[in-house]
Amino acid sequence: MTPATAGAVSAAQAHSAHNYHPLPVVVAEAEGAWMTDIEGRRYLDMLAGYSALNFGHGNRRLIEAAKAQLDRVTLTSRAFYHDRFADFCTRLAALCGMEAVLPMNTGAEAVETAVKTARKWGYRVKGVPEGMAKIVVAGNNFHGRTTTIVSFSTDHEARADYGPYTPGFDIVPYGDLTSLREALTDNTVAVLLEPVQGEAGVIVPPEGYLPGVRELTRERGVLFIADEIQSGLGRTGRTFACEHEGVVPDMYVLGKALGGGVVPVSAVVSSWPVLGVFRPGEHGSTFGGNPLACAVALEVIGLLESGEFQRRATELGHRLHHALGLLAEEGDAVRAVRGRGLWAGVDVDPSYGTGREISERLMERGVLVKDTHSSTIRLAPPLVISEEDLDWGLARLREVLSRRP
Ligand SMILES: *Cc1c(COP(=O)(O)O)cnc(C)c1O
Repeated sequence: MTPATAGAVSAAQAHSAHNYHPLPVVVAEAEGAWMTDIEGRRYLDMLAGYSALNFGHGNRRLIEAAKAQLDRVTLTSRAFYHDRFADFCTRLAALCGMEAVLPMNTGAEAVETAVKTARKWGYRVKGVPEGMAKIVVAGNNFHGRTTTIVSFSTDHEARADYGPYTPGFDIVPYGDLTSLREALTDNTVAVLLEPVQGEAGVIVPPEGYLPGVRELTRERGVLFIADEIQSGLGRTGRTFACEHEGVVPDMYVLGKALGGGVVPVSAVVSSWPVLGVFRPGEHGSTFGGNPLACAVALEVIGLLESGEFQRRATELGHRLHHALGLLAEEGDAVRAVRGRGLWAGVDVDPSYGTGREISERLMERGVLVKDTHSSTIRLAPPLVISEEDLDWGLARLREVLSRRP
């Protein structure tokens, strides 16, 4: 680490809680798939803000939309209407093939909204006795960081010391339909799942799992809630990861890329029989659906309507997975590769270093990635990355994995 970077890192640590362990790189600028640090070094971004930056850094259309809206009106609160709101809700609902939208800001807030919606639907529509509603979730899930959400996490680090925990959740193994069937009771109001588990290491469920979940939930009168916060909006080569198996859930939970890497925008999208349970005063958010958020998200929806980014994710994804497949065959460094579209989890043999160490070695070579679960590297570059840059980044990975340290 150079003195300038070391100084900036320790200054950052001096007055911020240490709830993250960032790589020692201090970014000053970014464009497309590239970031530049305070000393002018360039890095290929192969994390893309956990898919919040699907459309790249500084995407002109998104920045222009934000700038134009900044000069008009930025916040009204939901006490009043504003002239971007109807368009945003109408077009997002259409993109999802659904009827209604409830806008929030962060992903965790949207998941909380989904939980509240499902419970209220359970009591008002399904007729579950008061206080008895259950939601089934999967092991190794990641749905956010609120006290209720960590209550149904199986990740010790994410959950420990935050009790008392919110009751009302049943956890079943991801990908296992038999356990799911056994977990459903008359009081189950929803099954909440990631169609691809991102934080767990880009885990794609076995073929037939999502259609099986759809069938079971339909049979039992249970809502199927797909948390597509990370998997949705182009990343896997489709607008929604559920589409790969022809599945339509009862509710999408969206976030991350919906804000185009500019502002936090999240939403729950569903049908009227479900979202219609809310009456004024029963849920809300001061910033949810604000004019700036709607203006940026409308442009994001426009980008997705063209299908261009889904196509890019498919084509570049083939390139990515082909290269990773070769890398796995070449030596013994890669134990497993998973993923869909421009998204991959790579399990590295621990003799080549921890995920953290490999991330650090990639950083030294100008590539930024994030490890997860000690020996897994996750690759999710912006969908705007060029073939040449993707190949270049993968060549750096091959270098790092070419010999044991
Ligand atoms: C990131 C993420 C969340 C939480 O989003 P925040 O904006 O960080 O609150 C929830 N679910 C999934 C699947 C995610 O990847």
